[in-house]
Amino acid sequence: MIRQPDPKPDVMARRDAIVAGLAALLPETGLISEPNLLKPYETDGLSAYRQPPLAVALPETTEQVAAVMRFCHQNGVRMVPRGAGTSLSGGTLPMADSVVLGLMRMHRILDIDYADRCAVVQAGVTNIGITQAVQGAGFFYAPDPSSQLACMIGGNVNMNSGGAHCLKYGVTANNLLGLKIVTVEGEIVDIGGAHLDAAGYDWLGLLTGSEGQLAVVTEVTVRILRGPEGARAMLAAFKSNEIAGACVDAIISSGIIPVALEFMDRPAIHACEAFAHAGYPLDAEAMLIIEVEGSEAEQDALLDRIREICGRFDPISLKVSQSAEESAAIWKGRKGAFGAIGRISPDYLCMDGTIPTSRLAEVLGRIGAMGEAYGLKVANIFHAGDGNLHPLIMFDANDPASFHKAERFGADILRLCVEVGGCLTGEHGVGVEKRDLMGVQFSEVELAQQRRIKSAFDPGWLLNPNKVFPLLDGVAAE
Ligand SMILES: Cc1cc2nc3c(=O)[nH]c(=O)nc-3n(C[C@H](O)[C@H](O)[C@H](O)COP(=O)(O)OP(=O)(O)OC[C@H]3O[C@@H](n4cnc5c(N)ncnc54)[C@H](O)[C@@H]3O)c2cc1C
Repeated sequence: MIRQPDPKPDVMARRDAIVAGLAALLPETGLISEPNLLKPYETDGLSAYRQPPLAVALPETTEQVAAVMRFCHQNGVRMVPRGAGTSLSGGTLPMADSVVLGLMRMHRILDIDYADRCAVVQAGVTNIGITQAVQGAGFFYAPDPSSQLACMIGGNVNMNSGGAHCLKYGVTANNLLGLKIVTVEGEIVDIGGAHLDAAGYDWLGLLTGSEGQLAVVTEVTVRILRGPEGARAMLAAFKSNEIAGACVDAIISSGIIPVALEFMDRPAIHACEAFAHAGYPLDAEAMLIIEVEGSEAEQDALLDRIREICGRFDPISLKVSQSAEESAAIWKGRKGAFGAIGRISPDYLCMDGTIPTSRLAEVLGRIGAMGEAYGLKVANIFHAGDGNLHPLIMFDANDPASFHKAERFGADILRLCVEVGGCLTGEHGVGVEKRDLMGVQFSEVELAQQRRIKSAFDPGWLLNPNKVFPLLDGVAAE
């Protein structure tokens, strides 16, 4: 269970004055404080934890964000930035005394520069919205989280989000050129721009993945890419998770970089096939989706090499999609996988850790054994080429003991990721979910050094506190 510190009594006592002060800074419908209307903001993708905030501010411009932050800073009020609230690590879980700063009304595309291959968008533009804005000219924005219909670019920056096609194109950090941010004091700062690299410290690197703890992002300059000539997906079915894992390692260590290399185990295959009717192999224990792209000749050459490697692992079947519709169905199944698992078990924890691909086979075997020991079902659907695991642990939310068991199982999986040379998080961030496990990955000295960076940006720890860093004696460091 995740402990949260008590709200600040002085802030709670001044609630009405704070609400009135904030309302005066925002458009007519820009401040929510009615308890019923706060409900949608009490949780996010980690829905096991809930806490209504003090109020929700919905600014429409960078200047309004700055005014809200200046006010909160002067009044000692904690702030929780929020995009679409799809965080799976509780990154936007409010505190009772906090103001949620919702960026969803900032959804304008500000500039598209095809010559320099970049676009400037407000933080509340959805991930898919960027590609939709440029695809008519043959361009796309590469990082593609499965939540891309809903999640927003400001959230992607703060979680350094990835997706199925990031194996070739890199994650958010690799597709980012500039940011407009507002500091905790309410100052507006521009970082980077429509050019590669910037002088001085790598602020862009520091802010990417900072989980709303250092500043609020209001505008983002992203790299856009020309779409490939064509792409084809292949389904490779295997007799066990371990064999499929070993095949992934063989493909990656051969030097081939498919554009995507995704893994699904038996429960995931069955759940996704029932939903997408993509022709997934129902007789398999594990399946890989391997996509290549380029000219017809390039695709053929890559598929031949991949077929040869898969052939060494005694596959049950190898099937290359024959049409754009078939490829779309294959991806519909994969991208809808988390929802599809909900049909088997409405309650599940989606874990997120990273391991070296050379340890995939061993780790999948150990996760299976842990599931048996805990008596809990687990489905594996993940970005295998990047070694980014997503075990989905199924539990019964009506039974607190089952939930606690699922949390312990999840923590053991993350410890295993660190043990084999991997990382506590791949793309979902630390949030509250992994906060108390940070000590598994980092020494006290390393954590203290990171806390100093937080304090340099936010000396009063007002910006999304109680996330990422383990609490010290039950309270956030200040
Ligand atoms: C079904 C499903 C599938 C998913 N698949 C993927 C996937 O394939 N890859 C992946 O990487 N993630 C995935 N996620 C996780 C999630 O979608 C990503 O973390 C996403 O980037 C969050 O974006 P958001 O707009 O919802 O941000 P939120 O959840 O609202 O916020 C996320 C974090 O960013 C901070 N934040 C948000 N906006 C700002 C801002 N403008 N300025 C400062 N801080 C801000 C918040 O405080 C919080 O810490 C998935 C989630 C779901 C529910």
